[in-house]
Amino acid sequence: MSNDVLVLAEHQEGRLLETSFELLGKARELADAWGGKVVAVLLGAPDAAAELSAADSVVSCEHPSLAGYNPEAYERALVEILRERDPRLVLFSTTTAGLDLSGAVSVHLRAALVSYVVALSAEGDNALATARIYGGKLLAEVELSGPRSVGAVISGSFPAAFGRAGGTPEVARVDLGHVLGDLRITVTSVVAPEAGDVDITAAELLVSVGRGIGSKDNIELVEELADALGAPLAASRPVVDQGWLPKSRQVGKSGHTVKPKVYLMLGISGAPEHLEGMADAELVIACNTDPAAPVFDVADYGTTLDLFDIADELTRAVKA
Ligand SMILES: Cc1cc2nc3c(=O)[nH]c(=O)nc-3n(C[C@H](O)[C@H](O)[C@H](O)COP(=O)(O)OP(=O)(O)OC[C@H]3O[C@@H](n4cnc5c(N)ncnc54)[C@H](O)[C@@H]3O)c2cc1C
Repeated sequence: MSNDVLVLAEHQEGRLLETSFELLGKARELADAWGGKVVAVLLGAPDAAAELSAADSVVSCEHPSLAGYNPEAYERALVEILRERDPRLVLFSTTTAGLDLSGAVSVHLRAALVSYVVALSAEGDNALATARIYGGKLLAEVELSGPRSVGAVISGSFPAAFGRAGGTPEVARVDLGHVLGDLRITVTSVVAPEAGDVDITAAELLVSVGRGIGSKDNIELVEELADALGAPLAASRPVVDQGWLPKSRQVGKSGHTVKPKVYLMLGISGAPEHLEGMADAELVIACNTDPAAPVFDVADYGTTLDLFDIADELTRAVKA
């Protein structure tokens, strides 16, 4: 086993995800503490290698089956690379691909796996992880003391800036064609998010609407408030499930993780699956007519006034 920390550098159509840089920065800190190297693995996007400048080395593999995310092809390629490199710790993000692969890889390597990590540090030879469990209701402290460990980190947990620093990594281009034949999974198409829709994960101020809005016709009212505030409109899952807003607006366990400075919640009860997606919001303001709604346990400010009155009044005040 080496003391290296290996990171899967995820990309979408060749564009590296922000989370890849977040992981690289943390990998650098841990590898320095253990006297190891940072290795970034890049599958299917050879041109992005130069951007991974915070890594000591990049293992890049190009193959038709790796052009987009194919779980089987990615797993086979990763396992092959990991067997050769034998790092102490492998880091993924809790993206769809990261959650798939972290589980699969940990089984192949017989390595300990900790998911939904929000903090990670070196403790002597071991890694100490803080992870969200029970849908984010509890934080667990986990010591990873085995020879090999795998972590899946919630995006936004570490600053990306540290992962952008650095020099010129050595790039090893590997041919893994011998393990990528006879795949049982073929990706036939990729459904892209609706064109032109906003990225709620980047917003500093978010207005978020829940089932309390009652019907699709009423969405316009909160949209007007969001527009007046210059904020995108996000939503809880029932709003998305009913087709009142697109999936790209959903916050929570099966939606996006957001980290705005201000999160204004209108008619959202505060179910754990929703709170999981906004736990790191700096200031939470909740409007819910039910004083016993769990959302008030996490809100910094709250009101039990009707959301329709609040939205109307606020829009007028902001526009005045
Ligand atoms: C595996 C799994 C994954 C999930 N993933 C997600 C996820 O990603 N995101 C997510 O949001 N949920 C998710 N859920 C669903 C989650 O459990 C809740 O059902 C959901 O968050 C509830 O949404 P809500 O708060 O909008 O609706 P409700 O729980 O129905 O709450 C509506 C609230 O509006 C209030 N209200 C009603 N009228 C008004 C009014 N006029 N003014 C003010 N307040 C009013 C009510 O008092 C109530 O508290 C998931 C569930 C599972 C099992």
